[in-house]
Amino acid sequence: MARTPFPPLLPGSTIGMLGSGQLGRMFAFAAHRLGYHVHTFSPDADSPMGQVSDARYIHPYSDLDAVRKFARTVDVITYEFENVSAEALAAAGEVVPVRPSVNILRTTQHRLLEKSFLADKGFPVAPFLAIRNEADLKRAVAELGTPAVLKSARSGYDGKGQWRVESAVEAHAAFHEAKTDELIYETFVDFAMELSVVLCRDSHGNCADWGAIENVHTNHILDISISPARVPSEAAAAAVELAKQIAQQLDLVGTMCVELFLTRDGKLLVNELAPRPHNSGHLTIEASVTSQYEQQLRAICGLPLGSTRMLGAAAMVNLMGELWSEGEPDWAGVCARPELKLHLYGKKEARPGRKMGHLAAVDSDIESAIKMVMDARSALARVTEPRP
Ligand code: AMP
Repeated sequence: MARTPFPPLLPGSTIGMLGSGQLGRMFAFAAHRLGYHVHTFSPDADSPMGQVSDARYIHPYSDLDAVRKFARTVDVITYEFENVSAEALAAAGEVVPVRPSVNILRTTQHRLLEKSFLADKGFPVAPFLAIRNEADLKRAVAELGTPAVLKSARSGYDGKGQWRVESAVEAHAAFHEAKTDELIYETFVDFAMELSVVLCRDSHGNCADWGAIENVHTNHILDISISPARVPSEAAAAAVELAKQIAQQLDLVGTMCVELFLTRDGKLLVNELAPRPHNSGHLTIEASVTSQYEQQLRAICGLPLGSTRMLGAAAMVNLMGELWSEGEPDWAGVCARPELKLHLYGKKEARPGRKMGHLAAVDSDIESAIKMVMDARSALARVTEPRP
């Protein structure tokens, strides 16, 4: 059941964002293009979104009075990563509408709640068990076996708080390293491919998606996204259908990503939900009539969804902090490639594992789009001048 539609917030309105990373930055670009204002709230003084926002509120999420004050300056509030505090979002919701809802954030920011929601509603997931103590772990290893993945229930993203375990001994070692009593133990999936479906749902229940996207992870962090995913059309359609049903069950208003595994025998398993624009959807900026960011804006403002028609095949590679290890990457070289789109997030410090930017390319041929971004990234690592 879709919620009651609300009167649209038109250009000139102000959007409040909890979080201030690169997803917020790209959202701000889309919102500004349509004539909206953006205010951001996060603890970070110099942030990718803060640099391009009309106003910045720099406070910890635990400062609920500051959150309420921030909320009074905007017309609607959204968020750009799911580890913002649900309490902060609820406090904001006392003042202005919050979309997607606080309940969706609560469910998706806690792996156990998320997996239980999916399993209870009949969506396919890898077998998992909740772990609160050593006895739970012992039972899980006996029941589900190894290899498996032990994941902390909270604050997990980009492989943080996650251990692949091959034996009972490794499982117990990981449990002690985790230092939390809220975990899940999940069967290791020997997948053929990882997929994501990014979609957006409005308050009338209309959904628009960008099809199935193929993702390659390195060290648990997204490395490459390819659209459309190189899978049989039935698998792509089934992934989209699953994502739509999940969005409907959540009564989502906004953009969401559903991450899935495609197993070697052709089954789909849902791995994770993110109720916000997603790294794998960056390529929608160049490859679609409407990007995931503009669509997020449209949905939370009550505007009709835009067309998600794709303008070609697309590939995106992340630029991680490692690229800076030998000095400043060769920007002149990448800018000399006319088909490539460079995005840099304005982060001052390039640390290993930190997402600093990305490259995207659109082409009529998918393999050539992939080759363009891969070649360009390799060339970027050629150092022009050493770092002091
Ligand atoms: P997550 O934080 O759950 O999205 O996990 C990050 C990445 O770790 C995924 O995209 C997969 O590459 C890998 N991963 C997570 N869970 C599993 C699993 N049960 N089996 C195999 N690989 C996994």
